[in-house]
Amino acid sequence: MVTDEFADSAWGRDWIRLAQPVRIARVNPLIPRARSLARRHQVTEVVVAPGLATADVEAHAVRITVPLWTTQQRDAVGMVVAAEHDDLPDAVHRDLVEARLAPLVDVETTCTCVGRTRPCLHVLACFFELARRVDERPRLALLLRGLTRREEAELTRIPLARIDPSTFYG
Ligand SMILES: [Zn+2]
Repeated sequence: MVTDEFADSAWGRDWIRLAQPVRIARVNPLIPRARSLARRHQVTEVVVAPGLATADVEAHAVRITVPLWTTQQRDAVGMVVAAEHDDLPDAVHRDLVEARLAPLVDVETTCTCVGRTRPCLHVLACFFELARRVDERPRLALLLRGLTRREEAELTRIPLARIDPSTFYG
C-alpha cells in the first residue's frame, strides 16, 4: 500500500487523490508547494462541517463543498460505523465503497485568489491538510458527508430488525 507523509489510511488517501489524481500522468508543478504549505502549518482556521470545509491559506479563503449523503445513505453509514471506535479501520472504508457509499466523491472548490490555475495552490494545500486531519480522525470524513455524532447515537438505538435490507443500500 502506498503511504504518504499526510496519509497512512484509506480515509486520508482519498484527499491525496483529489490533489494528485492518478489518471493525470503529468506532475502538477503546484504540488510540492502545496505540500510544503500544509507541512509548515500554513493552512489555518480549518473548519469542517456537514457539506463544507473552509480554511485560510496565505490570506486566501478556501471553501470546499462536499455532497451530502441522503438521509437513507447516512442511516446506512451510521449502522456500519456505530460499533467502531474513533479510529475507523481501512476495512470500514472498503465496506462503504463496496456498498456504494464512498466516503469521498467529487468536491467543488472556491478560493479568493486570482490565480487562473484551478485547483489553485491554496485549494491543493487544503486537500493535503484535510488528508492529514481525516487520516487522524476518519470520522471527519463522515461528518463532511453529513453524518454527525448525534445521528450516530440515535441510530444505535434502532433495532436492526427494523431495517429493510432490500432498500437499505438504495
Ligand atoms: Zn487560491
